[in-house]
Amino acid sequence: MENWSNSPPHVLIFPLPCQGHVNSMLKLAELLSLAGINITFLNSEHNHKLLARYTNIEDRFAKHPGFRFQTITDGLPLDHPRSGDQFMEIFDAMKLITKPLFKKMVLETKPPANCIIGDGVLGFVGDVAIEVGVPIIYFRTVSACSFWAYFSIPDIIEGGQLPIRGNEDMDRLITKVPGMETFLRCRDLPSFCRVSDMTDPNLLLVMNETRQSPRAKAIILNTFEDLEGPILSQIRTQCPKIYSIGPLHEHLQAKLSAKNEKSCQSSNSLREIDRSCMTWLDNQPEKSVLYVSFGSITVMTRHQLMEFWYGLVNSKKRFLWVIRPDSMATKDGEFEKIPAEIEEGTKERGFIAGWVPQEEVLAHKAIAGFLTHSGWNSTLESIVAGVPMICWPYFADQQVNSRFVDEVWKIGLDMKDRCDREIVERMVSDLMVERRDVFLRSATRMAELSRKSVREGGSSYCNLNRLVEDIRLMSVRAHDT
Ligand code: UDP
Repeated sequence: MENWSNSPPHVLIFPLPCQGHVNSMLKLAELLSLAGINITFLNSEHNHKLLARYTNIEDRFAKHPGFRFQTITDGLPLDHPRSGDQFMEIFDAMKLITKPLFKKMVLETKPPANCIIGDGVLGFVGDVAIEVGVPIIYFRTVSACSFWAYFSIPDIIEGGQLPIRGNEDMDRLITKVPGMETFLRCRDLPSFCRVSDMTDPNLLLVMNETRQSPRAKAIILNTFEDLEGPILSQIRTQCPKIYSIGPLHEHLQAKLSAKNEKSCQSSNSLREIDRSCMTWLDNQPEKSVLYVSFGSITVMTRHQLMEFWYGLVNSKKRFLWVIRPDSMATKDGEFEKIPAEIEEGTKERGFIAGWVPQEEVLAHKAIAGFLTHSGWNSTLESIVAGVPMICWPYFADQQVNSRFVDEVWKIGLDMKDRCDREIVERMVSDLMVERRDVFLRSATRMAELSRKSVREGGSSYCNLNRLVEDIRLMSVRAHDT
């Protein structure tokens, strides 16, 4: 029998295969590698090919001797879009096809994993870990506030506050999420709550996956105490061991610069990055540009896209807009009929790209604001850069995040459920002209707190040390038994 007792702890990390989750879990993997832990990082075959094509991850991780990638199918056919309405199909596919392969892989992994860090939305990873007797830690890549809203869904239903009774009911207060009683409305609940049938499969999925979180040894969250302390305290009443170690991208930067190593920002991208926008940004005046991006999954109608476009052009502000080739629900070709007046305004003040190095863009001195879908990575990246936001959430946790950005943290405006050119124009002007100084002040303050949390002695810094220590203890215990 092989003896692994002298080797460093070995952790198997398995994210949900989509951009936001892979990105933040790779950052965690790099942080743990820097702390001397051996990592096996499990990617879907589909995503690994994209990462290998568009990034330098193979070279980057080759620097960590104990790091290796492994791949597994996500269970979807090759030509599946993995975005928009069809994104949720990945959950059934993984449970059915990926789960048995994953179990086999865990049993055969050499050296055996001392701990699995599984994406908390993939409950089957926890099932397998418990079945084969490997400690499981969940990583939830969402905000603490949205995790807590997901967690509370059964209580909201039991309290008779769901389902939502039509559009006129959307501003009703939800009082069954402890800590959010005074400001969370029906429209701010995770998008999966917008159904009349409380046995809707997607609602059940997020509700059940979240509700089983307490069975994990601990939960890692990509957030920091100064941002979400009160909500983290609420979560600790149900899941006592929480490691809040974010913002992970800033945490990694801090660790790498302490070692005098350079990290390439946005380098976990599943798409080809167009860097020409950086030259365009270099030529714009300081704090003059609105950055517009709706993340990797959002799909909008042509009507919505045109309303945004008119709103942006009519605002007379400069803008850098990411329009992915798969951003629109309509067929190819329809996009080509662009009215002359907005084409003119775009040429004068705008720049459109298919995919950009977002962290670098947000850190650029020309950026004044971010019109975002409120994905959690984008929100954190904006917070660290001190950039105020206009939020147009698309789905899942984004509806909760946008409410916190506006109502709790006061670092932006929530535009959810509205999409016409006048509103876009008004919000841009509010953010970049009328209340610019107020938003800038609060965003700058939050940026300082975010950086403080990952510096020596900061809350996330200390929590990461605690996580590393606890993983070491798990491996010592495994060798003792
Ligand atoms: N992103 C990027 N380039 C772009 C748009 C987005 O690198 O042009 C990155 C962004 O920095 C973030 C991730 O894609 O890290 C999107 O994750 P998020 O959680 O914000 O949203 P999701 O795509 O999961 O909805």
